[in-house]
Amino acid sequence: MAPAAQPTSTTYSIAAIPADGIGPEVIDAGIEVLTALADMLKSFKLEFTHYDWSSETYKKTGKYIPSGGLEQLRKHDAIFFGAVGAPDVPDHISLWGLRLAICQPFQQYANVRPTRVLPGVQSPLRNCRPGDLDWVIIRENSEGEYAGQGGRSHRGCAWETATEVAIFTRHCITRIMRFAFETARKRPRKLLTVVTKSNAQRNGMVLWDEVAAEVATEFPDVAMDKMLVDAMTVRMVQKPESLDTIVATNLVSRGNGQTGTLRDDTDAHQHQHADILSDLAAALAGSIGIAPTSNLDPTRQNPSMFEPIHGSAFDITGKGVANPVATFWTAAEMLAWLGEEEASTLLMESVGSICARRIVTPDLGGSATTKEVTAAIVNDLRGSLGKVASV
Ligand code: ATP
Repeated sequence: MAPAAQPTSTTYSIAAIPADGIGPEVIDAGIEVLTALADMLKSFKLEFTHYDWSSETYKKTGKYIPSGGLEQLRKHDAIFFGAVGAPDVPDHISLWGLRLAICQPFQQYANVRPTRVLPGVQSPLRNCRPGDLDWVIIRENSEGEYAGQGGRSHRGCAWETATEVAIFTRHCITRIMRFAFETARKRPRKLLTVVTKSNAQRNGMVLWDEVAAEVATEFPDVAMDKMLVDAMTVRMVQKPESLDTIVATNLVSRGNGQTGTLRDDTDAHQHQHADILSDLAAALAGSIGIAPTSNLDPTRQNPSMFEPIHGSAFDITGKGVANPVATFWTAAEMLAWLGEEEASTLLMESVGSICARRIVTPDLGGSATTKEVTAAIVNDLRGSLGKVASV
């Protein structure tokens, strides 16, 4: 008799790029947890391919990504990224050489940052009750204020001139608005806040508002409101419970399609700007050590990239105290994007349970090490999966 057919499980191919600083420590932790979860669930498999692209590689070879590297990367289902940045490499070189050199050609035009206060974590907002702060911030990741248009002339002269031209196209606004409305539609509140500055920026931002209003008609079940970016910072602090899904223009990445080349020293200046709203959001949620980001190509023609918000954090590199929670949350976002919703939910439940039990690193006021938090998550997963199995 022929053996009974075994249920087939999907295998996902993941590119791991730990890169610099605490990147390798947190990505190792993330892979350990993901592998344990896949082994326990048995409904899918994960195959990791490691890329040693980092500032060390750049210093040795002059390149972050070797020739043909992007073609290799394109074959994976997702990219699990650590952090890039080294004290002896200027930030604009490292960002453009590695991270943005992937985001731009892979058309990862939606930057998604879920933010909420995890159990046991204290928000700096005195009156913020559990559940009050639960947002998804979506940032247009391919054009906008820093589209790379502009330049400098007459250097050193009294009439030296510099221009920055913000780029807004109907195509790119429409695609990010549709993505934002679809995200809002999947959340219980069905509320999208469109952040703008159309009172002062009367061309690009007016087009932004107009396209938002047009796309809104395709989503009658989603309520939309509009906020000027300055007023938005006040609302985030004073009425966090009044917000849900937020869409804003790009304040960090630039969309000129260059891969790792530095045009002139204005690039260095541009990357010193922070993305104001999502940095504020991460701080309001308790620590930069817990916040995840996804750089998505919603068309799924290219792999999307998942990374913790934090950078390389050289002050704590090698000390074993990096908070791995941002990477675990990032891993959960990656699983959800791959279609493994159950695994994603289980992982976030374990993260919540560990935080509630205060098994946390020093940035959250605890004394646990990266390895202890990782082991605690694996144990918790084992416990909760054991419970599921015995029901
Ligand atoms: P980069 O220049 O690569 O962005 P950075 O060190 O300037 O790196 P971040 O790494 O984003 O900036 O973080 C700033 C500080 O926050 C760090 O110096 C570190 O003290 C703390 N920090 C960041 N990530 C973590 C983490 N995962 N766990 C604990 N502390 C963290």
